Amino acid sequence: MNRIGGTDGGALPQPQGPFSDSEALELLMAYRKDPSDVPCPRCGPDHIEVLAFIEPEIDPNGFASMTEPEGEYAAALYCHNCKRAIGILAGALYGD
Ligand SMILES: [Zn+2]
Repeated sequence: MNRIGGTDGGALPQPQGPFSDSEALELLMAYRKDPSDVPCPRCGPDHIEVLAFIEPEIDPNGFASMTEPEGEYAAALYCHNCKRAIGILAGALYGD
């Protein structure tokens, strides 16, 4: 056991975990099909909001720069129901 003493309690409201990889893929496919209609894999349609368009590369501080939805970019999606957020690579990275 290697317990680090110190702060205890102070529980903040936690998001219910991140989206899983398979959920992220579903979100990506749905976004690429219709960016205005992206259902949450858990909660269904009408919960996901596109919060922002961000640079696909997040800097080491975890700060994502806002960008335009052109070329390579990521979309920050947020589900208002399960309160999870994710950034998906929405630009044409794979050239299909
Ligand atoms: Zn959800």
